[in-house]
Amino acid sequence: MDTLRRCEVVFAAISILHARRFPDQHRGMSQAHGHDVISASMQNGELNVADLAAPRSYAQASRGFLGPYLASERLLGLVTSGGELVAPGQHVDERALELAFEGLLKLAKMDSVPLDLLEGRQDLCLCGQYASERSWLRTVMFPAQRPGDAATINRRSETALMLYRLIEMYEPENVSIELSRKIIADPRTYTDDQLEKMAIVPAWRGVVLRRWYTWAWRDLWRWLVNEQMTGAVPLVQLQGALSEQLPDQKFSSFRDDLPSGIDGNRLIDAEYQMRIGAMDPGPRNLAWLMIGASRVGQLSEHVAPYFESPERERRNYELTPSWLKDFMDQRNDHLVRDVAFELTGILLARSQRVAMSKSSFVNGRWRVPTRLTLRDGYAFRESNEGGGPVSLRWDQLTQVMSGLGMVRRVSGDAGTSTDRWVLTRNGQK
Ligand SMILES: [Zn+2]
Repeated sequence: MDTLRRCEVVFAAISILHARRFPDQHRGMSQAHGHDVISASMQNGELNVADLAAPRSYAQASRGFLGPYLASERLLGLVTSGGELVAPGQHVDERALELAFEGLLKLAKMDSVPLDLLEGRQDLCLCGQYASERSWLRTVMFPAQRPGDAATINRRSETALMLYRLIEMYEPENVSIELSRKIIADPRTYTDDQLEKMAIVPAWRGVVLRRWYTWAWRDLWRWLVNEQMTGAVPLVQLQGALSEQLPDQKFSSFRDDLPSGIDGNRLIDAEYQMRIGAMDPGPRNLAWLMIGASRVGQLSEHVAPYFESPERERRNYELTPSWLKDFMDQRNDHLVRDVAFELTGILLARSQRVAMSKSSFVNGRWRVPTRLTLRDGYAFRESNEGGGPVSLRWDQLTQVMSGLGMVRRVSGDAGTSTDRWVLTRNGQK
């Protein structure tokens, strides 16, 4: 493990030096692990490998940064591991790796390495620009698909191909946010020759729609906890916070005023319409939820199972899109404010139920893991809620593709300052 840590230190230092010299080639990539500590230590033209690789220096864990990568490498068949032991996996090409990392061990064994020696080893940089193992790694990561391959391999390859094509079409600034909207609402993504053949695309449409829906719940909850609570707040006041921001109107007409999330069989990214975006946070999240629920029963058979699964979610039905649609259908004659009051009450009760089910005895005290405590008709905030969307992991996959030389991040044209993802010239398969 000492050798592993030393290798990671040398590798990080090479990447830091290369990125300092050629920042353009590292645009959009994460920094090497241990970046801050190692970068700060490279002062006098020397990298002190022995000091940095010592326990608890550049990394806290004794296995360095092996942990975050082990599962991925196992999945790719690069290693097998059990307990503390790690061995080569079935997809390893040992000869290629020896060539690719030639000299790394020698550098790692030195206690101190002159920086100019490292400057010459750009082939070891994390950007992969000059890496000899790049094309091999690409075939491991995105193998040509064969029937009988594990489903995860097919899904990963197909998702990468989908992103690859979408990046080619749109050259997005932000992969998750922009491309999500494109695959939902841009007709070109439905007629494109390449995308049309990929079974993964409608599946991702369902996942994206579900992500928007849960995002609204998470943000509504965050808004309630973080912004509506200043000190101890009477429960009734908290429960009425959303109602107060809504119009005095019948629920059915409030519902009719919202754009629909689907028109016939054409999906609409109604969540992003200007008038929805202009609403206050509380009502806006409610609108997102209602738009999401408006798609229940309307989605195609290839999209619907990824949006919700009544079968799988049977025991956790509350707050699902179908649940909300039923809830709304039964309350068309009520006032919007009353519906919001009731809905907030359900949320509050649920949060306490979930917290109680996760509670346990810790050091002789009954601990309830909650950011919100309800007691004697009052609500207290213990800490802030996070909110935000769940990750699609598209950004991470794009970074992997970038390391493999398939896509790259370029600075915006003159006049715009935003960076964009584009295909590399040699990215074509
Ligand atoms: Zn580099």
